[in-house]
Amino acid sequence: MNTKVSFIWILGFAVLILFGLSACSGEKELSESDFNFDGPLGSEGAVVEKLEKNLFKVTLGHAPNQPEWNNKLNFEITGNAKGNDLTLIVEGPPRYAMNEYFYSWSHDMENWNPVHWNAGYRVSPERDTLVFPVFQQDRVYVGHQVPISYEQVEKFISDIEPHEDVEVHTLGKSLGGRNLYRVVITGSSGDVPLKDRWVHYFSNSHPGEHNAQWRMIGKIEWLLNDEGSEFRKRSINHFVLMMSPDAPSNGWYRVNAQGIDMNRSYFPEGSDKEKQAHEAYIFQRDLEELMESESPVTTLWGHHTWGGPVEPLLYFVEDDRVGPWTEWRDILLALAPETLIKPLDTREREPGYGAISWEYGPHAQFGITAILCEGGGAIYTKEENKLSGRLLIESLAEFYK
Ligand SMILES: [Zn+2]
Repeated sequence: MNTKVSFIWILGFAVLILFGLSACSGEKELSESDFNFDGPLGSEGAVVEKLEKNLFKVTLGHAPNQPEWNNKLNFEITGNAKGNDLTLIVEGPPRYAMNEYFYSWSHDMENWNPVHWNAGYRVSPERDTLVFPVFQQDRVYVGHQVPISYEQVEKFISDIEPHEDVEVHTLGKSLGGRNLYRVVITGSSGDVPLKDRWVHYFSNSHPGEHNAQWRMIGKIEWLLNDEGSEFRKRSINHFVLMMSPDAPSNGWYRVNAQGIDMNRSYFPEGSDKEKQAHEAYIFQRDLEELMESESPVTTLWGHHTWGGPVEPLLYFVEDDRVGPWTEWRDILLALAPETLIKPLDTREREPGYGAISWEYGPHAQFGITAILCEGGGAIYTKEENKLSGRLLIESLAEFYK
């Protein structure tokens, strides 16, 4: 081998080694094109700008017809994340501050890790910073609270559908063409005729309040395991996990494609196809049909988040078949630590905005017990959110014997 040839070989090896070293030590740099705001967890109108290595600025867009309402910071890093940390400076419109709640990041959209804002919404609602640790893999997902996409909700529903006590109703389509589901869980066997069973209706109207959706999933998982089998035989349970399924891919926090706040979309005087928000009309019409059936709803739940532990608030209607509401409060107190669920309380007054929420609205229209199931915005894991739901439905099962 002459000197020239071996020199080329050595040069070749050197280049390979350097290339390999830089790949292993994460010297790939993140660039703007690695950020995707159009995935199952997305953020309509978000713009990303690179300021320096691993430091980016994101400017958030706003909800349809609501220029002051920011879209939440949902996105995906499609590659090159491994070995890099990341600092994001985020700016957005002021209403329902983008940084009121924590966010989560994940490599697989299943195992989520909380990430917290530097300043917080009380100090700086329109500009704040998130700092992520060094990523271990190239692909990263980021979303509001403990996120869940519409596609994941749909997969959850199709996974439980084969269960003999589950029935899935597709009531219609959202404006974006996604299915509007109501899942019914009731024992297919048992001595109690359908017309004599307790009927509970569980809903989520604000699509970006993902912790509330996990709370509902916790209820479903309890219902479908052995512990819930007795309760299944004497109850009918309706679940609307996501009333505005077009939202997660757009980062919409409270609205549908018309920009209507989904928890101000109830018409207590009756559903109205012309005037009502598209998805709200479909769900309210369906609820009205349930109320006319031989198994009308006994309790109706709206699941939301605000800060702190879960906070169930009751619009209670006395019923000879059950004890006073304080009995339910005591059952729940015995089951759940107050750090997870605050003691059950009543809320008898009509909200300032009227009977247009999915809790007070049905309470006013049908005279049924409604539960505004708030809080839980400071529960940072999927498991604890699900646990809160499980304990709530256990208390319901014990009270509505
Ligand atoms: Zn809400």
